[in-house]
Amino acid sequence: PVHPTAARPASITVQSENVAYSDEHIVSKFFHRSADVVVSDGQYTVKPTVKPFEFQTTRKVSKTGLMMIGMGGNNGTTLIATVLANRNGIAWRTKSGVQQPNYIGSVLRASTVSLGTDPSTGKEVYVPISSVVPMVHPNDLVLGGWDISGLPLDKAMERAEVLDYDLQRQVAPHMALLGKPMPSIYYPDFIAANQEDRADNLIPGTDKQAHLEHLRADIRSFKQKHDLERVVVFWTANTERYSDIITGVNDTADNLLASIKASHSEVSPSTLFAVAAILEGEPFVNGAPQNTFVPGVIELAERHQSFIGGDDLKSGQTKLKSVFAEFLVNAGIKPLSIASYNHLGNNDGRNLSSDAQFKSKEISKSSVVDDMVNANHLLYKPAAEGALPVKGQKVAKGEHPDHIVVIKYVPAVGDSKRAIDEYYSEILMGGRSTINIFNECEDSLLATPLILDLSILAEFLTRVKYRDASANNSFKPLYPILSLLSYMLKAPLVKPGTDVVNSLSRQRNALEAFLKACIGLEGNGDLLLETRIW
Ligand code: NAD
Repeated sequence: PVHPTAARPASITVQSENVAYSDEHIVSKFFHRSADVVVSDGQYTVKPTVKPFEFQTTRKVSKTGLMMIGMGGNNGTTLIATVLANRNGIAWRTKSGVQQPNYIGSVLRASTVSLGTDPSTGKEVYVPISSVVPMVHPNDLVLGGWDISGLPLDKAMERAEVLDYDLQRQVAPHMALLGKPMPSIYYPDFIAANQEDRADNLIPGTDKQAHLEHLRADIRSFKQKHDLERVVVFWTANTERYSDIITGVNDTADNLLASIKASHSEVSPSTLFAVAAILEGEPFVNGAPQNTFVPGVIELAERHQSFIGGDDLKSGQTKLKSVFAEFLVNAGIKPLSIASYNHLGNNDGRNLSSDAQFKSKEISKSSVVDDMVNANHLLYKPAAEGALPVKGQKVAKGEHPDHIVVIKYVPAVGDSKRAIDEYYSEILMGGRSTINIFNECEDSLLATPLILDLSILAEFLTRVKYRDASANNSFKPLYPILSLLSYMLKAPLVKPGTDVVNSLSRQRNALEAFLKACIGLEGNGDLLLETRIW
């Protein structure tokens, strides 16, 4: 039996004047309702606005490849084994019985949305998110990629020590068929020195332009070999240190391309991969926290209308924080400090035990409560007008909870990460509340479904075009920075000049509203008016 999360979706047809189906497309009308607010002298003047849009979704999903950078690591091998077990129907024995493969933890495969109510029962009808619009099934992804470690993938899965032995035993022959990862680029300065003994599978030389061309050729030949229409390139390799943003080096697209030609030392491997994907016109997602997307990369993505998304998978502690901090602030309670401790014992933890790489993680974990705090000026005093940012911050911050993040490497616990968070808050009349949360989980089993979701959504978003229905323009692709991926990302990259949304529920609502808009449905049905009137 196939687990429900791995089943092929039923089809959905919307009968409405707002949606038209052709063999090739679904075209939907969508009214974007918002409001213009003018504040003056303490008076708020609000004018509701409505803007008509049309979305055009290509119905046929692309034959899609997922090329992971770091495919021999814990996330990479766990993902490959998961897909192969699902694809081949491999069940395995554990001490508590037979376990079926599944996609639990994937928002697309294992969570549902309400389409509306069944008129005969008055009950809401739920479907998997992945069936709202045509999406790639994870079993169908063609898997490949690079790693600086040349260990064959069956052995790399063993090295990761994540999956049950009986599963490893059965899936190993399938993993072995994939051979070993393609050689990659290694600039030792960007990852921890303790990774050096892994680096035995390298593209030769130090010429970054030659490296770029090599990576582009890898993407092209993978596409050709497997007859693919789309390839998602995904960084799930080690966390790198931050790149310095230097005027003339990586601040514009042209400067970045020139710096690659000159093999400038500040161009990181992840940036080089991103540039390769952009120039090949394939989506690139960054699952780690470093600033791969230096300004030059963003400009290049805009220029080529090529999609990018990032940064850093939001798997455990930060996901909970983006729920918990929002819950407190939206409940009118004022967090004064959030103190987070982690320890883990996998290779990611080993790499993060080095200062510069930890710093990247610290930054990506730290901004997650900013939007909740900024949205509540009753609890937190905003920054004074014209205030300048303090060192290490992008924008001037007003009053803010103290927020620290500590990560320690404890080899004994392996992939099973432990996270402790203390939320210390002000409550009524000067009172205090302390809430502690302890979180324990195999890291790679949380990360794998996120990588699948991000890749599948990225492919989907390449098939959606939009137009302003009032202007009779032609359809065009979405803006290159895919902020609709934010739900799965710790430090979401957004269109420059727009606000980051960290709140998990708002991120999910946005995704749900967007997918539903593509089939002509309204997003939020939580009003349930029929249950509140006679
Ligand atoms: P890992 O160390 O097991 O795997 C990383 C792999 O990348 C290794 O096999 C390494 O050899 C390879 N690598 C390093 N530099 C490379 C390069 N330049 N080119 C190609 N391969 C390279 O780590 P992991 O646990 O799989 O995590 C992967 C990344 O995902 C890390 O950066 C981690 O911080 C990030 N991440 C993980 C989680 C999670 O829950 N597991 C959550 C958020 C972010």
